[in-house]
Formats: sequence, C-alpha cells, structure tokens
Amino acid sequence: MAQTSRIAGFRSMSVAERRHAVANQTALEDEVFDQVDADAFGPEQAANLSENVFGVFSLPLGTATNFTINGTDVLVPMATEEASVIAAASNAARIARPAGGFHTSSTAPIMQAQVQLLGVADPHAARSRLLERQDEIIDLANAQDPKLVEVGGGVKGLQVRIVEAKSETYVLVHLLVDVRDAMGANAVNTMAEAASDTIAAIAEGRALLRILTNKADLRLSRARAVFDKELLGGGEVIDNILHAYELAAADPYRAATHNKGIMNGISAVVLATGNDTRAVEAGAHSHAVVDGRYTSLSTFEKNAAGDLVGTLEMPMPVGLVGGATKVHPAARAALQIAEVKSAADLAELIVAAGLAQNLAALRVLATEGVQRGHMSLHAKNLAVSAGATDEEAAVIVDRLIAEKAFRFDRVQAILTELRTGVR
Ligand code: NAD
Repeated sequence: MAQTSRIAGFRSMSVAERRHAVANQTALEDEVFDQVDADAFGPEQAANLSENVFGVFSLPLGTATNFTINGTDVLVPMATEEASVIAAASNAARIARPAGGFHTSSTAPIMQAQVQLLGVADPHAARSRLLERQDEIIDLANAQDPKLVEVGGGVKGLQVRIVEAKSETYVLVHLLVDVRDAMGANAVNTMAEAASDTIAAIAEGRALLRILTNKADLRLSRARAVFDKELLGGGEVIDNILHAYELAAADPYRAATHNKGIMNGISAVVLATGNDTRAVEAGAHSHAVVDGRYTSLSTFEKNAAGDLVGTLEMPMPVGLVGGATKVHPAARAALQIAEVKSAADLAELIVAAGLAQNLAALRVLATEGVQRGHMSLHAKNLAVSAGATDEEAAVIVDRLIAEKAFRFDRVQAILTELRTGVR
C-alpha cells in the first residue's frame, strides 16, 4: 500500500520529483522508472509482441492520486493521451475521501469459452447428454492446464445453451473456467479446442467455433463511493448530477457519452498495466445493454445524509500473468506502483478509477460545462504550437481566456508582442 496517495503538490513537480515521490510512497527504488523510459521498450522488444513492427508508439503514463480503496491508499497508474483524465480521477478520489474512499468487491474470476455445435438432431436431449457427462469434459479440459489447476483455477462447471439462428439451431457449450490471476483468453481457448471433439461426439454434432466470450458476465467487479456534499459544491450540484445521471439511465444517446467517461478511466489503467483494452471494452458494451436497451453502466443516488453515492459494476477480465503484463517493462512498473497482489485487486482498482472518472465528468457537466477546462488546454496547445516557451504560454493562455479568442493569429500576435514589446 502507498503510505498516502495524497501527495502534496504532485501536479506542480518536475518528472524527476514525481518519480521520487511515487517511489517514496510505494517503497520502490527510483530505478523502477528505468522500465518506463523509451530505451526499455525499443522496436526489438516490440517486435516480440506484434508483427511487421518498425517502431514504438508512446503515450503519457502518470498516476492518479488521492485514491483509497477498502481502507488502503493506492496510486493508480494511467496511460492516456487525453488531457484532464488523470487530473479528474484524482479530483473525484479526493471528494470520496471524507467517507472512506472506494469500497470494492468481485465475483470469482470465471471466464467462459463457447463451443458451437452444428447439425445436432436433438438439441434438448444433447444438452442433457452433455450435462450428464460434464465431469468427463471438465477433466479433459483441465488436463490442458495443470499450472492453472495447481494455483486453484480450472473448469468449475458447464452450461449448455440452445440458440435459434437463421439457418439452424446451434447447441452452445460454455466451459466456465476460474482463471485466477490471468485474463484467461488463451487458457480457455486452449481448453475449448481440446475438449471440442469429445463434446461434439456426445452431442452427435460438429464443433465449429471454439473461443471465449468477451461477455464476461460471470467475472464482475464493483466499486461504491460516497461523494462529499460540501466538496462537490452543495445540494444543488448533487441534484444536477442526479439529473445528468438519470438522463444517461433513460437515453442511449447520453448513455454512450456517460459510459465513454467511465471508459476514460478504465481503459487508461487497463492499458498502463499491459492488459487487453478491447476485451474490457467489449465486456463493457455487452454489459451496458440491459433488457435489450443500452444504458448507463453506473448508478447514482442520494443517501440518507444527502451525499451522493455512486456505484459501478462491470465485467473486468484483466490479469497479472500472461499477455503483455509480464513482457512489457512499463506495464511491470505500473503493476509495481499499483501494488496489486491479485487480478481481483487490479480489477477493483480499475473499476474504482472508472467510477471516479464518471463522477468527475458528471460534476463538470452539471456545473461549469467542459469547455472552460478544455479551452485553456486548447489555448496552451495553440501557444506551444506557435513556439511559445512555458512562461510565454502561461501569459498567452490567460490573455486568450480573457479575450475569449482562441485563434492562432491572436496567439502569434501576442507572442510577437511579448518578444518585441510592440503591440
Ligand atoms: P496466458 O496463456 O499467457 O497466461 C495464462 C496462463 O498462465 C494460465 O493458463 C496458467 O497456465 C499460467 N499461470 C501461472 N500462474 C497463474 C496464476 N496465478 N493464475 C492464472 N494463471 C496462471 O494468457 P491468458 O491470460 O490466458 O490470455 C491473455 C491474452 O489473450 C491476452 O494477451 C489477450 O489479448 C489474448 N486474447 C484475447 C482474446 C479475446 O479477448 N477475445 C482472444 C485471444 C487471445
């Protein structure tokens, strides 16, 4: 655990000072940051992960501050190109602190592989035959991954579904696999492929697709937080946030953007820790559709004391072993900074970051609107692209905001004025 995730003045520090502060809080050596430097993951290493590689694409990697999860302070590593995301998560986590931060929990890490069966004459009877012989199928699948079984994972059960499709009725066998600290895709795919001949023989059909489902609805993580009324800005702000939430719950157009805000936090931590952003995003899409209608992944309510309570529950298929997590040096560093001991710890950290991000966006939308913050960033980008130094950029940003003019010609004019003293 971090000694404290409230690091005074963190955002004003130099990169070297930030590294030192993070190392201090986490009892890591400063050398851990060698793993996030450009030469730690060059094209040669990258070529081991992907194909046709000719370079490496870099992104900002930082940490959100102020997070307490289940009574423990933690730093939340985030990789994102989007401005304001890490600051917003940190700000929302600060607002959750008076009531103890985030409280989290998870189901067992059950991933599911599907085996699609074609040409089954008697689908209902086949379903019964498969369930009668499920121990045999489970043993066959588990024999593929003794390591997983040794650490307490493996196939825990079988489900058989009958799906009416356009050309025929498919029998679908789901292997329910406890994947412990892995994301689990490779593990369950291997099992499904190995067991499919036996499954097809029992069903008296032909096995076609043998692949996990990203609708990981048996592997859920949840986070809950109470956001302090005074720090939020008072009862009226809470009421407006609730209106913003209710719109997301009722209207898919708003829900998509609401959930995008959640994913700003989620994907940034998933990426920083070397996990599969697409798998998590696919799980989120499927989970956002309840009763056939797309809606908010989170909920917001007012508690008896008048504070705002938020919850978020969603599939979180992430791991500490396998995939890029162990291979990518920056991902290894991020996992060390987050100090997670299990895939469930990581999953819960990620969902807490998603809830924080969601609250931060709702608060801005329900108060000043997003443009004020965005326009000052836009102004800074304009100033930097015109060649301004940091000091000049600060002056230019203030002037553009005062003039409400965010044009490149104004930036150039102000820069010339600063440098020559001539208006
Ligand atoms: P993996 O196969 O590399 O690692 C998992 C294996 O690690 C387990 O099978 C087990 O043998 C071993 N292991 C050792 N210690 C363990 C522990 N404590 N807990 C669990 N397992 C332990 O990786 P994976 O997690 O099976 O697959 C993840 C990769 O699959 C990701 O790179 C993902 O991008 C990719 N993938 C995703 C999809 C998809 O989402 N649709 C499809 C195919 C592949």
